Amino acid sequence: MALERPKFNVPSAAESKQFVDSNNRFLTLKDGDTVQLRFLPAAGDNPSIFFPVANHHGLKTQDNKKVALACLGVHGTVETGKRCLLCEASRYLKETDEELAKETRAQTRFYTQVLQAMFGTVGGKPVLKGWSGPKLIQWSGKAQGKLQAIADSMEKMGEPLFYDPDQGQALMVTRIGAKMDTEYMPERTGKIVGLDEIRPTWGDEFLTDINEAAGLNVASRELQLSYLRVSYPAIDWATALVAGEADED
Ligand SMILES: [Zn+2]
Repeated sequence: MALERPKFNVPSAAESKQFVDSNNRFLTLKDGDTVQLRFLPAAGDNPSIFFPVANHHGLKTQDNKKVALACLGVHGTVETGKRCLLCEASRYLKETDEELAKETRAQTRFYTQVLQAMFGTVGGKPVLKGWSGPKLIQWSGKAQGKLQAIADSMEKMGEPLFYDPDQGQALMVTRIGAKMDTEYMPERTGKIVGLDEIRPTWGDEFLTDINEAAGLNVASRELQLSYLRVSYPAIDWATALVAGEADED
């Protein structure tokens, strides 16, 4: 008797990649990518679906790895306080090294929480297979403004907002360009559908603490100083920071 051969699942390369990507908490679009995103409501007590994140870049660890530290002015806690040493450092550097000042000053981005449409192919045509997420996607101020403009116009027209859990709709977003020339082009898909219908488990999966989900590195002033010393050993930070602090008023 011939052995019964099990049926093998042979996913396409695109499906395989999509599955791996779907397990990543962060969604990053590349130049030329077009995705369908369903925006989830605001998390925690944030009054907006846009969650501001301010990070200082241009720093490194002792073993020479790049590191971003949260700006205490925005993310400071009861323990760390709201006075950000890195903001003071950046202000000081403005006088001496414009480039370095730019590199170290806080950069504000906006996170949103989204579900991403997953597509397979049937008979050579793309078919929606489901929604993965929730994921965090980061927007520049300019991209955030475009998304906000869509919400503004929907509100003016008396339409349900695109991120309404029951009456919302996905947006199609295309990224063109890289680095400073990056453009995001969002547009409505026009298909109104409830979140419960497209992903019934979304309520349980919803990220309630974006700070934590985004892995923000909130370091004390003392720790900030030690990163500055490691990253820029040639600068006399003790003197520099007194000067930076004085500039504040
Ligand atoms: Zn700061």
